[in-house]
Amino acid sequence: MRVLVTGGMGYIGSHTCVQMIEAGMTPIIVDNLYNSKETVLARIEKLTGVRPAFFEGDIRDRAFLDNVLAQANVESVLHFAGLKAVGESVEKPLEYYDNNVHGTLVLVEAMRAAGINSLIFSSSATVYGEPETVPITEDFPTSATNPYGRSKLMVEECLADIQKALPEMSITLLRYFNPVGSHQSGEMGEDPQGIPNNLMPFISQVAVGRREYLSVFGNDYSTVDGTGVRDYIHVVDLADGHLAALNSKGKEAGLHIYNLGTGNGFSVLQMVAAFSKAAGVEVAYQLAPRRAGDIAECWADPSKARAELHWEATRTIEDMTADTWRWQSNNPNGYPDV
Ligand code: NAD
Ligand code: UDP
Repeated sequence: MRVLVTGGMGYIGSHTCVQMIEAGMTPIIVDNLYNSKETVLARIEKLTGVRPAFFEGDIRDRAFLDNVLAQANVESVLHFAGLKAVGESVEKPLEYYDNNVHGTLVLVEAMRAAGINSLIFSSSATVYGEPETVPITEDFPTSATNPYGRSKLMVEECLADIQKALPEMSITLLRYFNPVGSHQSGEMGEDPQGIPNNLMPFISQVAVGRREYLSVFGNDYSTVDGTGVRDYIHVVDLADGHLAALNSKGKEAGLHIYNLGTGNGFSVLQMVAAFSKAAGVEVAYQLAPRRAGDIAECWADPSKARAELHWEATRTIEDMTADTWRWQSNNPNGYPDV
């Protein structure tokens, strides 16, 4: 199966390309390298023996996409490309709506013109806003508290309208919980530019000595130990969820929505303890005030994906922390520039 992968040089997209190649699929990558480096291609090749086709360009550039799609001969599109930092989205809402919403609309127009009807979109558990209860099922109400979350919700709503009007299309919305971890080889991983916003890359940069300590945002939530609880999912399990979607619902017309999570919640301090154990390094931390917009706890009910996609996450917290550490300790400064 030939599949266009927008944002395929990024964290989740690159891991998904490796899993696709290992499953005999052919990913064709489009990325503007805004948040990734071309050296990712060499790592994919090192792991799989295959260097995927790569087109450098922006999904908002219709002529560029038309040209790629004319050459690529794909049957589906995995759409990872976008901006993803909550805090930055508050400062730069225009960039977020332009990249995430406008970018998706240009992509769908180009797909339509090329006669491609299958799209799998990277959505997020952030579309559940502040859930009243956990675990979260796909029919929970949606809302947004920041421009990033609103851009994901807007795209979901646009795609639902588009699918209704074009019933031959297959559109799958995958709502990711908290992707962490790395390929088990330690060759690929998360390489955030600047100060990490997310917990796991922050912990691993403290462990490797790039940062002094972790600030734990709030210890007065009503959770197991007062710190925030999330559903961390190994990025390779998440990648496999895309293959499961491509091979099943991605071939069926309709609008399909799935949570991709493990169904388990871990607190910030539990993550720190698990990482310290896996790395054999104490992770220094300090308690800090709550971060604006954070919720106390969030984890998935993943049973719909299990029943309908025949997929479930199998990797443990030990795998997530050990694999992250292998990547971070082998590549303390992330991917090289060349
Ligand atoms: P990432 O930043 O590592 O990857 C995104 C890739 O898209 C990057 O390589 C970037 O250069 C590229 N890109 C951005 N805008 C582009 C554009 N206009 N044209 C072409 N390429 C563009 O992010 P990621 O963590 O791999 O996330 C992938 C997707 O999953 C995003 O849509 C993100 O919102 C979504 N998501 C991520 C998380 C998470 O915690 N990582 C959680 C939920 C959802
Ligand atoms: N967190 C933290 N310190 C950090 C980054 C995150 O204590 O430097 C906490 C955050 O408050 C939340 C959890 O870790 O409870 C996961 O945060 P992340 O930003 O990784 O994911 P999200 O907020 O999107 O669930």
